[in-house]
Amino acid sequence: MSKLAVFGGEAVRTAPFPSWPVFDESEEKSLLEVLHSGQWWRYTMGEATEAIANTGTLRSTVAEFQEQFAQAHNARFGIACATGMAALQVALRALGVDRGDEVIVPAYTFIATATAPLAIGATPVFCDIDYDTFNLSPESFEKAITPATRAVIPVHFAGVAADMEGIMAVARKHNIMVLEDAAHAHGARWNGRGCGSIGDAGAFSFQFSKNMTAGEGGIITTNNLAVAELCESYIWVGRKAGRPWYEHHRMGWNFRLTEFQGALLLEQLKRLARQTITRRENSLYLSRQLSQIPGIRPLHITDYAAEFAVHIYIFRFLAETFGISRGDFVTALNAEGIPCLTGYSFPLYRNPLFQSGEIAHDYSRYSELCPNSERACKEAVWLEHRMFLGTRQDMDDIVSAVAKVYAARHSFESHRTELASTSF
Ligand SMILES: *Cc1c(COP(=O)(O)O)cnc(C)c1O
Repeated sequence: MSKLAVFGGEAVRTAPFPSWPVFDESEEKSLLEVLHSGQWWRYTMGEATEAIANTGTLRSTVAEFQEQFAQAHNARFGIACATGMAALQVALRALGVDRGDEVIVPAYTFIATATAPLAIGATPVFCDIDYDTFNLSPESFEKAITPATRAVIPVHFAGVAADMEGIMAVARKHNIMVLEDAAHAHGARWNGRGCGSIGDAGAFSFQFSKNMTAGEGGIITTNNLAVAELCESYIWVGRKAGRPWYEHHRMGWNFRLTEFQGALLLEQLKRLARQTITRRENSLYLSRQLSQIPGIRPLHITDYAAEFAVHIYIFRFLAETFGISRGDFVTALNAEGIPCLTGYSFPLYRNPLFQSGEIAHDYSRYSELCPNSERACKEAVWLEHRMFLGTRQDMDDIVSAVAKVYAARHSFESHRTELASTSF
C-alpha cells in the first residue's frame, strides 16, 4: 500500500487537468471584428421578438447569439442580459411576481436563486431537494405553497434536469409560474427538450465558472411572446420596441450585454454540444468506476435527464462506510493531485442574510423542513466541469486516487496529530 501524498508520499498525479475557459483564434477574430467595427454596444432593442435584427450593414452579435441560443434549447425567444441573477429577477418580474409575493426555491443552490426574488421585493421560501438527485422535490414544493405563492424556481442542479413533470403538475394545479434556473444546464435536456424551454421561462448564466462563458452574462428563454417583450423592456430601462427612445413604460434596468460578449458567446456556443458530450461520457465512466468503492455514491441520473450536462460532478461521500471524515478525504484527494471541494457549507437559509431578521419571514424552522439539503451539505464532494473535458486517463487518475485513499484510510489514525498541524 503506497503512502498518501498528504503524509509525504508520492501524488497519483502532478499534471494539471484541462483548464477553463476554452478558446482559440476564432474568439480572437470575432472580438477584433467588434473592436474595429466601433459598434461595441447593442444599438437596437426588440431583436428578440421582431425580425428586425441584422438588417442594414450593422450586425448585432448579441441579437444573433440570443436567436441561436434559444433555438439550441428549443425555446422561441432568447433575451440576453448582463448576468444570471439579472436573468432570474427580470424573468420573475415578467412572469408577474411582485412585492410581497412568495417564490419557492430549493435550499441547496447558489444564493442568486433566492436573492433574485428579494431584488424585486418578493420573499424566497425554501423547500427541500430530492435525496438522490439534489434537485427540487415536487412533494416538498407542494408543502411550501401558501396563498401568497406566485412562482417556483427549480434549479437543474449540477446540469442534471429536475423532475419537470412532477414540478409542472404541482405548479399548474396551484396556478404557480415556473422559472427554470438553468445556470448549470447549458445544453442539457429534459425528456429530449432543452432545459429552459419547459416552464414559463428559463434563466442561464455566462459567468466565468459556467459551462459557457463571456466572463459575465446571462439569458432568459421563453416560448411566450408577451413574457419575451416584457423581459426586453425590463433590460432596456423600461423602453418599448417601436416607441420613442426616451419614453419609459415601467421600472426597468440597464441589464444589456455588450457586443464583445455577444461575439464571444457565439463562438462558445459552437463548442457547447461537443463539450457537453465529452463531459457527459467521461462522467458516466467515472461514476461506474467510483460506485465500486465503498462509501462513494455518485448522484442518480433519472431517465428523463439522460442528456445531462456536467457543470459540477457530485458524489455523496459516506464517511461511516468509507472510514474517514469528508474533510480528511478531500484534503487527501487534493494532495494526490485531484482538485475537489465540499460545496456549500450549509443550506441557503442558514446564511447570515436570512438569520439576521432583516427579511420579514421566519427562516428559523427550515432545518426541520429540509433534511436532504442539510445532508447534502455534509456529504457532497464536488469536482469542476473542466476536469471532464479531458481523457479517460484523467478519469482513471481520479479513480486511482480515491482507491488509494480508501486503501490507506487506516493511516489517518496514526497521523491524526500530524495532520492537525499541517496547513490544509
Ligand atoms: C451562477 C448561478 C446563478 C447566477 O448567475 P450570475 O451570472 O453569477 O449572476 C444563478 N443560479 C445558479 C444556480 C448559479 O449557479
